[in-house]
Amino acid sequence: MTIDETSGVTFQHSVDLMVKRAMDALDLDPGTARAIHGCGSVLKVQFPVKIRGTVEVITGWRAVHSTHRLPSKGGIRYTPHVNQSEVEALAALMTYKCALVDVPFGGSKGALLIDPSQYTRDEMQLITRRFTLELARKGFLNPATNVPAPDMGTGQREMAWMVDTYKHLHPEDINYLACVTGKPVHQGGIRGRTEATGRGVQFALQEFFRHADDVERAGLSGGLDGKRVAIQGLGNVGYHAAKFLSEEDRVKVIAIIERGGVLIDDNGLPVEEVYRHMVEHKSVAGFPGVKFDSNGAGALELDCDILIPAAMENQITSANAGRIKAKMVVEAANGPVTFEADEILRHRGVTILPDVFVNSGGVIVSYFEWIRNLSHIRFGRLQRRHDEVRNNQYTALLEQLTGEQIPAETKRWLNRGVDEIDLVRSGLDDTMRNAYQEMREILATNDKVIDLRTAAFTIAIRKISYNYLDVGVY
Ligand code: NAD
Repeated sequence: MTIDETSGVTFQHSVDLMVKRAMDALDLDPGTARAIHGCGSVLKVQFPVKIRGTVEVITGWRAVHSTHRLPSKGGIRYTPHVNQSEVEALAALMTYKCALVDVPFGGSKGALLIDPSQYTRDEMQLITRRFTLELARKGFLNPATNVPAPDMGTGQREMAWMVDTYKHLHPEDINYLACVTGKPVHQGGIRGRTEATGRGVQFALQEFFRHADDVERAGLSGGLDGKRVAIQGLGNVGYHAAKFLSEEDRVKVIAIIERGGVLIDDNGLPVEEVYRHMVEHKSVAGFPGVKFDSNGAGALELDCDILIPAAMENQITSANAGRIKAKMVVEAANGPVTFEADEILRHRGVTILPDVFVNSGGVIVSYFEWIRNLSHIRFGRLQRRHDEVRNNQYTALLEQLTGEQIPAETKRWLNRGVDEIDLVRSGLDDTMRNAYQEMREILATNDKVIDLRTAAFTIAIRKISYNYLDVGVY
């Protein structure tokens, strides 16, 4: 069980304390608070699979924290370090995340207690299909009620197996593709989903840096350009966030912390090359030309502008929070900062962009994918060529009226009709910007809202509470 080493508070209790702080700020009536707070239901499964001639019994969970909106939504992780309490805490975070960013889903989360690196591809397929059967037969997998997505240790591949298993169980369900999100594009996925969470981290930071007051309050100045960033975890979320921020916003990724150690280069690490090295060697160790230190956790305390924990929960605890030197902590992972650490960092003036906001890109684009699956058509398919013809007419008219030639490259850009990836990015960017603006607004106007995390939870809880106030308890 992951706990804050010094205080002994578990991850779930840590989330509860953060939620309670927001409920207190809202003066929520205790009945509504209790209704929102508790985890609705949890399925625990134990199923046998035959691996290399031996029967193994595998344990898994799917927690449904809330059903005030349906389906309930949340990733499935495969890891040897997980328990029911953590799955419930992660499901709760999904509830607040969806409400914050106006994604009309309840919150859910699932996990299998396995180490994926110990199994072949075929074995992973067997395990995933067997888990899918358990979920579907027990009502925890369905396009209308419960829709998983990838998380730690899972990706497009697992989602493709899950959707295929569900399809064979329910061939009559015309919406079967919508039973999971994060699928490969050729299996009903949406362009931009794989990188969505990392892209969302980038959009969150871009929006933060549009507000000079907030930047100044964090003890920083200017824009993202040249900011010194340390990132923990070069998996799906961390890799994409580091790649986009370094390539498009010109931040300097001065440290990449992975299992087994950290790479450090004050001039900025080449993210793509480090990633390729890691995929090939299963480690960042041995990457040529830069410093490697086997004390990865210690590198969280490096002097930098922005620290992005993008690996797992409970990384900044009361044991190391006092030594964190970053001016900002951007929670790309779920729950990387414990409640006590959160308090310590706030008192030390460190700005935290909270997980329920920062890593919501995944569920936002999952929402787009789910809509795409239900509408059975790719976004942009109907209007793209129509827009192109229209834009051609406008630019031709502009040239005719001004007597000037628009440069060819600009004209190509102006004339093109939008396609799916443009719409996905635009919808994601818009959602992240709106959420941040709502958070800073409530922070500025409610004295009981002490930081951006409380702001995020307060907004989410207020939205969910309307549901109980409007329709009551059934
Ligand atoms: P992943 O499995 O693709 O990557 C995690 C990476 O972190 C791996 O490279 C792993 O080696 C590394 N890592 C694990 N423990 C570490 C440690 N102690 N120190 C350094 N590195 C460590 O997982 P992911 O999908 O990128 O998820 C990362 C985090 O983001 C999780 O908290 C997850 O819940 C959260 N998240 C993921 C998504 C998504 O769309 N994948 C969406 C929202 C939130």
